[in-house]
Amino acid sequence: MVEVSYNIQAAVDNKHNLVIATHTINRNDLNALGAIALEAKENLQVETLTVLVDKGYHNGREIDQCKKNNITTIVAHPTPGRSKESATQPEYLVAQFQYNKSDDTYICPKGETLKTTGRWHKKSGRTEQSGYQFKKYRTPACKECPVKHLCTSRSAGRELSEANHEYL
Ligand code: SF4
Repeated sequence: MVEVSYNIQAAVDNKHNLVIATHTINRNDLNALGAIALEAKENLQVETLTVLVDKGYHNGREIDQCKKNNITTIVAHPTPGRSKESATQPEYLVAQFQYNKSDDTYICPKGETLKTTGRWHKKSGRTEQSGYQFKKYRTPACKECPVKHLCTSRSAGRELSEANHEYL
């Protein structure tokens, strides 16, 4: 038996509503942006291009690929859902943590600083292209935190992860 699964991508020019690029891939939409945007740019023979894409039709690596090819991406960031950690209350979702690019840390809603060792962990995907790397951020302050039960069910404390290219 052979399993066949393909995903068809199309780019449309918003002035004339003409299809300017098509692509058939065997990975999901999260990993499709760079290739179709680049194909659209090449077909239009332009130096720069702005692409407007659906929410969720991207990941950091794909946006980075666009950026390196003078393609500006306009995309809504997915609304942060509830944490996978069942104990996390809305006030402690990832969106409530402040990222500091200068020192690569997060400040939690209680003002504690979550740091990373800088080590990259690897998350494998269905295909090599859909895998990614991420760093972990933690603080020892969680152990004594009075609202820990609202923030995480993890006994060692809250742990955030950030995929590569997440903050370009
Ligand atoms: S459990 Fe940790 S991350 Fe969560 S609010 Fe308390 S100190 Fe901050």
